[in-house]
Amino acid sequence: MSATPNYKGKGVFARDVLDHGFVALRNLAGPTRRPGDPFDADDVDPAQAARMSFDQMDSERPYADDMRLNEYLLKNLHTSPFEMIQVWVEVKVPIFVDRQLVRHRTWRRNESSGRYIVLPEEWYIPEVVGGKAPNKKQGQEDNLPADVQNYFKHNLAAACKRDYDTYVEMMGLGVAPEHARMFLHLNHYVHWLGNVDLGNMFHFLSLRAHSHSQVEAQAYAWAIIELLRPHLPGLMELFDKHCRRP
Ligand SMILES: Cc1cc2nc3c(=O)[nH]c(=O)nc-3n(C[C@H](O)[C@H](O)[C@H](O)COP(=O)(O)OP(=O)(O)OC[C@H]3O[C@@H](n4cnc5c(N)ncnc54)[C@H](O)[C@@H]3O)c2cc1C
Repeated sequence: MSATPNYKGKGVFARDVLDHGFVALRNLAGPTRRPGDPFDADDVDPAQAARMSFDQMDSERPYADDMRLNEYLLKNLHTSPFEMIQVWVEVKVPIFVDRQLVRHRTWRRNESSGRYIVLPEEWYIPEVVGGKAPNKKQGQEDNLPADVQNYFKHNLAAACKRDYDTYVEMMGLGVAPEHARMFLHLNHYVHWLGNVDLGNMFHFLSLRAHSHSQVEAQAYAWAIIELLRPHLPGLMELFDKHCRRP
């Protein structure tokens, strides 16, 4: 079976996540063209967009002034200047994690369809299997004996392999891919392209990088944070200071 085309070698900025997943930063774009730079977006874009209020968008200001204005805007919930930067990410993620990511309604997506293609033979087996947290309704603790973890992983891998083989067999017998895929598990990987503006990306990251979020969702949020940081260092510092929750 073919694997998902590898993001590496496409000239994009990417991070591996979990055992077969990844996030790639496909593009970043703000209101100003920046030929020669990797992306058409910069720390100063929200401040410049906000200066449109005074019809002074292109007036050159020292970087520190722009960052002071950005901080004022972020702290006082002036959201539209941060929506002037668009972010595109390519993501490969297990279905059960994606059920959480897809709840963020401000994103736009295009996803590989299990109606049209044979989904690759790729599923997620956690390295550490969490134990039930005694005093919490959600989350997990690092308290599961190694033999139970190994038993879990062995059984999960065997079930995924058996059911993936049945999925392929059913299609060989003429079953439509859109029905055959019912044999696949919640930990099967899906692959999509997403787009969201930076303001709503901050909101998404503040919820999903938080310690109360599912650990695998946290891994995707942190990958996005680290991919954005080199390209928008000042804005990511403001995110750390004003949006990111401990
Ligand atoms: C730790 C955690 C646990 C969760 N547990 C559950 C659970 O058990 N069950 C469950 O069903 N969900 C659960 N959720 C999902 C949660 O309820 C939200 O649906 C999800 O986090 C998206 O948040 P959001 O609506 O703020 O973000 P987005 O959909 O990204 O929207 C961003 C912002 O845009 C605005 N907005 C977007 N659409 C509208 C609209 N139609 N009307 C008004 N304002 C809008 C809101 O201000 C919103 O905050 C959980 C989320 C987290 C982080």
